[in-house]
Amino acid sequence: MTGTTTNSIAAAAPALILFGSPGSGKGTQAKLLRESFGPHISTGDMLRTHISAGDDLGQSAETLIKAGKLVPDEVVNELVAERILEPDCKDGLILDGYPRTVKQAEVLLKMMQRDRFRPAVVHLVVDYDKIVARLSGRRQCPVCGTIYSSTSNPPKIAGKCDRDGSALETREDDKESVIRERLREYDSQTLPILDFFQKSGVSMFEINGGEDTPQRILERIRVALATVNGGASQASVRS
Ligand code: ADP
Repeated sequence: MTGTTTNSIAAAAPALILFGSPGSGKGTQAKLLRESFGPHISTGDMLRTHISAGDDLGQSAETLIKAGKLVPDEVVNELVAERILEPDCKDGLILDGYPRTVKQAEVLLKMMQRDRFRPAVVHLVVDYDKIVARLSGRRQCPVCGTIYSSTSNPPKIAGKCDRDGSALETREDDKESVIRERLREYDSQTLPILDFFQKSGVSMFEINGGEDTPQRILERIRVALATVNGGASQASVRS
């Protein structure tokens, strides 16, 4: 597949868009890929930081997130627009959980063009029953963000982060009823983005994210991205 019009800019930095349903492994892969691509930008993590800070943005986002609903486009668009201008994004970046609506995708492609990024989409596909099982058993370190799974990747000491010993937490939106609502939002609002990206000529790769270890899935992503002209393969060389 060929790239977007932004791909014609030789100096453009790679922007890896990790796409997939809640619980498809975007955050896990982003953490594994950030050494090679650049910072991991998760709109979910950014919103949770505002919630912890108790500021106005956090307070309005909290109710929506707890109900499994999306936060308004303008809010997340602004967070991302500011973040990608920071110096650490200069050579590339990874987006996780953004865009989530066609409107966000339209805004993102304009930003990519303006700020000279070359987008490539990796779509992690996972069966929804597996998602519900995965998310219900997911635990996260509130300090370093490491994600554990009670089945496939448990911490060495139950309930404690291997890296810093912090008490692991379950996200409030990882309850089954909320997970189902998040999947409904994904089907209705997020999946149509794929069509939009395809029509816009963005490079896209579909990866089975439901089988295998995170490390093997990572290898598949690297192989796929190495086929994109220029930046992604440069990025792997830097890894
Ligand atoms: P997951 O991908 O597992 O659902 P995230 O941490 O990416 O988890 O997102 C958690 C919640 O934050 C979402 O359910 C949604 O309410 C909100 N959110 C995150 N990113 C966006 C976005 N780009 N647009 C709207 N809402 C968002």
